Amino acid sequence: MERFEMVIGGRSCPSSSDEWFETENPYTGEPWAMVAKGTATDVDRAVQAAHTAFTSGPWAQMTPSQRGQLLHRVGDLIARDAKRLAELEVRDNGKLMAEMYGQCQYIPQWYYYFGGLADKIQGAVIPLDKKGYFNFTRNEPLGVVAAITPWNSPLLLATWKIAPALAAGCTVVIKPSEFTSVSTIEFAKLFEEAGFPPGVVNVVTGFGADVGAPLVEHPLVKKITFTGADSTGRAINEAAARQFKHVSLELGGKSPNIVFEDADLDDAVNGAVSGIFAATGQTCIAGSRLLVQESIYDSFVERLLAIARTAKMGDPASLETQVGPVTTRPQYKKVLAYIDIAKEEGAKLLLGGNPGSVSACGNGWFVEPTIFGDVRNDMRIAQEEVFGPILSIIKFKDEDDAVRIANDVRFGLGSGVWTKDIGRSLRVAERIQAGMVWVNSYRAVSYMSPFGGYKDSGLGRENGIDAIREYLQTKSVWINTGVKTANPFVMR
Ligand code: NAD
Repeated sequence: MERFEMVIGGRSCPSSSDEWFETENPYTGEPWAMVAKGTATDVDRAVQAAHTAFTSGPWAQMTPSQRGQLLHRVGDLIARDAKRLAELEVRDNGKLMAEMYGQCQYIPQWYYYFGGLADKIQGAVIPLDKKGYFNFTRNEPLGVVAAITPWNSPLLLATWKIAPALAAGCTVVIKPSEFTSVSTIEFAKLFEEAGFPPGVVNVVTGFGADVGAPLVEHPLVKKITFTGADSTGRAINEAAARQFKHVSLELGGKSPNIVFEDADLDDAVNGAVSGIFAATGQTCIAGSRLLVQESIYDSFVERLLAIARTAKMGDPASLETQVGPVTTRPQYKKVLAYIDIAKEEGAKLLLGGNPGSVSACGNGWFVEPTIFGDVRNDMRIAQEEVFGPILSIIKFKDEDDAVRIANDVRFGLGSGVWTKDIGRSLRVAERIQAGMVWVNSYRAVSYMSPFGGYKDSGLGRENGIDAIREYLQTKSVWINTGVKTANPFVMR
């Protein structure tokens, strides 16, 4: 099997333990490559390389404009290699080629956008209340950043962290998920080809306890930017707090997608289907709770089932496939367990509910697109993140009821509102406790628009101009322009 090494200090290298672990193809359910099994020693090597690159050497000497040019260059290389990177991700992650190729062509925009921001990180001159002083601020990079990513969208989510961190002048150690490390390793090599000095971008592969935890604890890491499960985020935040490290967290969701009776129902049905079944439901913003007004409930559910029933499962590499496999074996088991939980709780199974048939789908980890009706919001299937192709439909009476149900959950990441009434769309957008509200659409994302969670869905924001601030700290510089410095021990 092909072997993939880590990237430390600009060089590919095996683990210090010389151990490897298998990575599996979700479509076949078989291992297809070996990945270096990193250790705390490897973490230390990578952090030391990143620290050296940050404090001395060419990266530390570069002007912000030069950093921006490098970011542009790596964007061009990603665009050049979009197909190769997409193929790797399809193989390792089970993402659809139909989605992945477009995503890899879009990812360069983050590098162009944040590359453009690199030389616009301006401090300010403060119009002071005191005479005789000139006071200004500098925005300085925090230092070594640990970027810890999940398995569901490895390259996109790493990009959301790497592009602003590098634009700010930081250096980065990336720890991809042990389930999907390969694309990140190949991705990191493009930074070297673009001309980034050694040590600016490093990748350490391995498991959370062996690599993630020592990375969070390493005293030279100044900022942790994490995307993943809320339980992991909590552990990271607690560990980081002991050393007063900066932290941003993008965690889970249980997002409401609300359909009012006055909505364009054709659009709303399509938005509900793609809101949950895109990426096989394995997105943090999946519209996993569909709230439908009671006056249209029966007819809406009928239309929804008619469309969802047509979904084609199969080989993610085929452009015909619409629903791919679940990415990891444990996740496959978790999704199937939630189907049983929902049935036991009394939710009404309207569609699916089985593993995908083996003959149509290889031996991979497929779950049929599954829809439950008559779900109550206090059921586990409505409160807990499944992260799979399972939709829960909940009935509501009116606007107040919809908002109450939408907010009655500990998460607050995405949300959708389908209505033709502009007043209602604005009222509901204001009342929903979520970081993103899509009106008559679902899941739109851009490098320009802030992304992040309310409540247990996280801390901080990615994307948009302010994302760069997550990697900066402010220094206030005071210059005496003519005040005599008095002896404090002379009585006046
Ligand atoms: P996870 O928390 O299990 O793993 C994420 C990463 O953390 C992996 O690289 C893992 O190895 C590492 N890790 C595990 N334990 C660690 C520890 N103690 N210290 C440091 N690192 C550790 O999450 P996952 O299963 O890979 O991803 C699915 C989760 O990610 C879902 O909950 C989903 O909602 C969330 N997610 C959130 C967003 C968002 O932007 N809000 C986006 C995508 C996914």
